[in-house]
Amino acid sequence: MTAAADAKAILTRLGVSDAVWTGDLPTRSPIDGSSAGSLVQATPDQVEAAVARSVEAFKAWRRVPAPRRGELVRLLGEELRAAKTDLAMLVTLEAGKIVSEGLGEAQEMIDICDFAVGLSRQLYGLTLPSERPGHHMRETWQPLGPVAVVTAFNFPIAVWAWNAALALVCGDPVIWKPSEKTPLTALGVQAVFERAVARFGDAPEGLSQLLIGGREIGEALSADPRAPLVSATGSTRMGKAVARTVAGRLGRSLLELGGNNAMIVTPSADLEMAVRAIAFSAVGTAGQRCTSLRRLIVHESVAEALTARLVKAYATLPVGDPRKDGVLVGPLIDEAAVTGFETALSDAVTQGGQVLVGGTRVEAEGTYVTPAIVRMPAQTAVVEHETFAPILYVLTWSDFDQAVELQNAVPQGLSSCVFTDSVREAEAFLSAWGSDCGIANVNIGPSGAEIGGAFGGEKETGGGRESGSDAWKAYMRRQTQTVNFSADLPLAQGVKFDV
Ligand code: NAD
Repeated sequence: MTAAADAKAILTRLGVSDAVWTGDLPTRSPIDGSSAGSLVQATPDQVEAAVARSVEAFKAWRRVPAPRRGELVRLLGEELRAAKTDLAMLVTLEAGKIVSEGLGEAQEMIDICDFAVGLSRQLYGLTLPSERPGHHMRETWQPLGPVAVVTAFNFPIAVWAWNAALALVCGDPVIWKPSEKTPLTALGVQAVFERAVARFGDAPEGLSQLLIGGREIGEALSADPRAPLVSATGSTRMGKAVARTVAGRLGRSLLELGGNNAMIVTPSADLEMAVRAIAFSAVGTAGQRCTSLRRLIVHESVAEALTARLVKAYATLPVGDPRKDGVLVGPLIDEAAVTGFETALSDAVTQGGQVLVGGTRVEAEGTYVTPAIVRMPAQTAVVEHETFAPILYVLTWSDFDQAVELQNAVPQGLSSCVFTDSVREAEAFLSAWGSDCGIANVNIGPSGAEIGGAFGGEKETGGGRESGSDAWKAYMRRQTQTVNFSADLPLAQGVKFDV
């Protein structure tokens, strides 16, 4: 069976109707280039109707007590557990992730549901002392309204869950526009969500809706004033367009955009650990994570030893069909991604780079490449740009402050790390004058975040935070409330206004 036929069979098992296959959005598996057909796309009228339905759903859902909303998310978590292997395999078949990474992504959905269920009893506000006698003040978090969620191909299901689990307990309906490169996983997730809704019983219609199609749907949702929050994950180019449109109507956007993540390796680093962390974060998901390691900033005294070990490890990396045992590097998502990989490598060479290993297309059906390591003379233009493919640029340093400066001197600010045994270097890296990224790790690679922390980055990464910590506040509106329980009407700041 082709990868596409496998995916279609899973969708049927999950209860997705065959009617979805009668449209004109082509689908294709990067594993073998196979297609199971084309999908129906949402029309502009259907987008409009979905937003209207979401507005109605909001009116009902905001009246449901938050812990009861949490019950829906608890049921969603149960259904996701039951469907975990099917959803994970869909991720593998459609996005090309190796099996354990597909399972990891499905697990992330379950984890965020667990988190959100607890959160549904902890949407804490504040009580504040009032300066006026017989008054009290409080700060309360209220549901916000329909949340538009636009997602990227490389985390085709987890990013929806990060948003939806929090939005739902916060009292907000969700309208999901998945990547046009990964609509099948979205259909699978929607079917699982509907199972949870059926068990819940009295959820309003249209609590989480799915709109299959291209960027124009994302554009329409961004422009719609009935969606007070647009949460968009993808390229910086897309994020700038969404930010402009949403700001134009003074809406709120939550942006999770491109990264250009670095590791600083110091002379005291445990090189064995560093090699393992580098391999996972630079070639895992074939370099197609927003947190993938792209820049290795290594002290000149250990650069030769470290690169020699890496070149040896890269030379035997198992690249191929991600369904096969032992394979660690699956395909790139499509032909355009292979072209981007090849163009970046040729630019790197033009800019003085030396390819130490990899960098070739694998002759096979599907879009496979061998991960590359490129020694660069400096942080040139190509290094400052996020190429969404497995290319690791190696730069050297002699002074720690210079290494941190080099790390921070790119437009993106998502994830970063240092490998060191020196508490001084580790703490300096984590200090106010250290890493400027949203994520900063010590002796851990830049990728593979846990859901408990707030996830996101600075600068061109967009500034948004999703998932754990207090990221839920983005999905609610803050209200300051003052109650007068006295028989007088004193004004603040002692103002007198007797009529
Ligand atoms: P992409 O920007 O091409 O597409 C992402 C989504 O945005 C798709 O659903 C697409 O249809 C939609 N879109 C495109 N243009 C739009 C517009 N003008 N208005 C509204 N919607 C629009 O990204 P991609 O190739 O799918 O994903 C890869 C990128 O995503 C990388 O840059 C990666 O770093 C980034 N990413 C970031 C995070 C994060 O959390 N920071 C997570 C995953 C991926």
